[in-house]
Amino acid sequence: STFEEIDLGDALSLNVRRCNYAKPTPIQRHAIPIAVAGRDLMACAQTGSGKTAAFCLPMVFGVLHDGVKREKHLSSRRSVCPSGLVLSPTRELACQIYEEAKKFAYQTVVKVAVAYGGAPFGQQVRTLEKGVDILVATPGRLVDMIEREKVSLRRIKYFTLDEADRMLDMGFEPQIRKIVEWMDMPPPGARQTMLFSATFPDDIQRLASDFLSDYIFLAV
Ligand code: AMP
Repeated sequence: STFEEIDLGDALSLNVRRCNYAKPTPIQRHAIPIAVAGRDLMACAQTGSGKTAAFCLPMVFGVLHDGVKREKHLSSRRSVCPSGLVLSPTRELACQIYEEAKKFAYQTVVKVAVAYGGAPFGQQVRTLEKGVDILVATPGRLVDMIEREKVSLRRIKYFTLDEADRMLDMGFEPQIRKIVEWMDMPPPGARQTMLFSATFPDDIQRLASDFLSDYIFLAV
């Protein structure tokens, strides 16, 4: 099977070709069509499986397909309103996801940004204020940005929780639940959620049943 069989449109297909991926990995082959179809997804995926592209490609595709309106980025309070959110447990992983998402969004109108702790707050906010459609973030810094009204989640339409098991191991469950509650604040939009995890203990199953609706479980 090839990437050509997954119809991602001209701009994205070109960007995938630029990555020189010979063929989709199993997780990509199965997850991308499900995600592009708008379904919620819980996927079992290890690092190295190609999971990043499996959730980034459909997210860029969705945002591109929905159409980007620049004025939507700033609410009346001037907080930025992305339509895609990826949560990652660590700064390193967030930066890797950001780099990969940027490759897929290359030469499109889709803007990708990253926010993580341990780096100057103001500088990250100023970058976000230039416009962000897809935000990759670590939970602590994102909570901080929302509480300081720099970021609003009220337009999030695509949400991915990456390495969910590591998130819980690192004690991020309260922050994640807070973030999801913010996304659920009115007006409630139809949101697509994808959860990626290497393991599926009870607490992950609980997150899945709380955050996902009518989801497909994928283990490849
Ligand atoms: P990940 O599992 O998302 O951390 O990806 C692991 C590495 O595989 C990254 O460096 C990707 O750039 C690369 N990669 C992702 N998809 C493919 C593919 N279809 N073919 C070859 N390499 C890939």
